[in-house]
Amino acid sequence: MSLTGLGTMKDERPELDAAGEGAGRDFIRDIVQADLKSGRVKSVVTRFPPEPNGYLHIGHAKSICLNFGLAQEFGGRCHLRFDDTNPAKEEQEYIDAIERDVRWLGFDWGKSLHHASDYFKQLYEWAEDLIRAGKAYVDDQTQDEMRARRGTLTEAGQDSPFRNRSVDENLDLFRRMRAGEFPNGARVLRAKIDMASGNINLRDPVLYRILNAPHPRTGTTWHIYPSYDFAHGQSDAIEGITHSICTLEFEDHRPLYDWFLENLKVPSRPRQYEFARLNLTYTVLSKRVLTELVRGGHVTGWDDPRMPTLAGLRRRGVPAEAIRDFIKRIGVAKANSLVDVGMFEFSVREALNKTALRRMAVLKPLKVVIENYPDGKSEELEAINHPDNPEAGTRKIRFGRELYIEQDDFMENPPKKFFRLSPGNEVRLRYAYFIKCHAVVKNANGDIIELRCTYDPATKGGNAPDGRKVKATMHWLSAADSLRAEMRLYNPLFTKPEPAGGENFTADLNPNSLEVLPDARIEPTLLDAKVEVPVQFERQGYFCRDRDSTSERPVFIRTIGLRDTFAKDVAKDRPKS
Ligand code: ATP
Ligand code: MG
Repeated sequence: MSLTGLGTMKDERPELDAAGEGAGRDFIRDIVQADLKSGRVKSVVTRFPPEPNGYLHIGHAKSICLNFGLAQEFGGRCHLRFDDTNPAKEEQEYIDAIERDVRWLGFDWGKSLHHASDYFKQLYEWAEDLIRAGKAYVDDQTQDEMRARRGTLTEAGQDSPFRNRSVDENLDLFRRMRAGEFPNGARVLRAKIDMASGNINLRDPVLYRILNAPHPRTGTTWHIYPSYDFAHGQSDAIEGITHSICTLEFEDHRPLYDWFLENLKVPSRPRQYEFARLNLTYTVLSKRVLTELVRGGHVTGWDDPRMPTLAGLRRRGVPAEAIRDFIKRIGVAKANSLVDVGMFEFSVREALNKTALRRMAVLKPLKVVIENYPDGKSEELEAINHPDNPEAGTRKIRFGRELYIEQDDFMENPPKKFFRLSPGNEVRLRYAYFIKCHAVVKNANGDIIELRCTYDPATKGGNAPDGRKVKATMHWLSAADSLRAEMRLYNPLFTKPEPAGGENFTADLNPNSLEVLPDARIEPTLLDAKVEVPVQFERQGYFCRDRDSTSERPVFIRTIGLRDTFAKDVAKDRPKS
């Protein structure tokens, strides 16, 4: 996921949706409100229906926030329902991860945890009802034969040669499919609707497939499993879902959704509504591609901090609040669109700026020796933890004769507008003193390995009694008291705003999505930093400790960079660079 400033959002606030405050008036909320007002429904019941064949991503967050949000706002309830109809692809690991991630995002299904597999028996009985009513049949065609007869958008399909089997033969075959008498794929049960329908979904859709595989919840009870279309609406009806909200690609399935509800004795009458899925620049939100990224070793796992999964974003240090805020800002619409990842970054920065404590870290250290600072001496200086929140308090940082500054903050032969450290130029070390550089030490290759500087003892705390100004304030750490740490900087996983998906997804993979800085320095206070809770490294960005840390080697990962090269809360007299 791109969290590195690729987006175009700058300081301005993103457009809020038409409703104003971003609080979310949208067409779905209008429908729900109208249905409550007219009495069509007594209270709103929604569901979030993930298939447990992968981890949740930020696109799912849109659906979660919408479904759970509606229930919260209108005093109804939202079910978490696992759409576990395909045991070939589904795993317990995914079920656990989905529950964890929905909770982390801030939602609670209470007692309303459901599984499509809870309804296998009822669904089966309904399938037999359709057979008895002459509205379903067992088809022995191969997949290819079925495909060849399906027709196209402009051409009607052709009836299957098995379409007119008798009810008895259909019942007998279907029961034997259920009993496990046939190999995988040998037959299917299809609805008998209309092979000439303009809507391909109505051309005798598949209701059941043979799959001789155990199911995590139903074990070896079943040798046939219902299709998504046959399971979904009926599950909604069983649970009393009032508004079944899904993404636009299901719009063409709605007539089928309704056909089942009309042709079966269901206990309630849900309605399906479609909204636009979330698409983000520099990001792929296809579960299939995300699975390939994990399986192919392109990332370290589903919770790799580069992944757009909720688990990856959490590990990266993105607060759940930022995701909810982002989803609120983008709103819910009926037309698909591509959202600039910069908009997401805006929400992440805004959330972190409020909460993240300030610390100092030097990512690429350059040694500085303060020649007029007494050897063996050191002193404690006071640093503030949050510029806008005095209650966050202060901490002590130690100053000494040997320090580290950022390599990028020094230039031996600076261009005109470079105001940071260079020979003869005075700068402020944040919370400490003014220093000046007067000599550069190089190794045999000519690389700068050390700076010889002097400090002005009268500038303690960072201000000169004579009122003289400096144009740069830099972060630093004491060589003796800071600790070594590894920094992991993540760049976008994809190099294009609209990466190739599908088979071709590796084409746009960024070969430099991870940059490791093994010799960074951190304040000792950071040893206690909590994983997943970012701090702001002054002038560098938001970072959090990673669970890969060991006692010898703390690891920090960059959640997101700062908007500017310089944090605003550092010296105001410093020009931008
Ligand atoms: P699959 O391709 O496997 O169906 P999926 O992403 O649709 O993948 P589901 O587990 O079926 O996975 O998704 C659960 C719910 O999340 C569905 O209601 C789906 O419409 C919604 N959803 C999935 N992706 C997005 C997205 N990018 N934006 C908004 N909602 C999404
Ligand atoms: Mg789906």
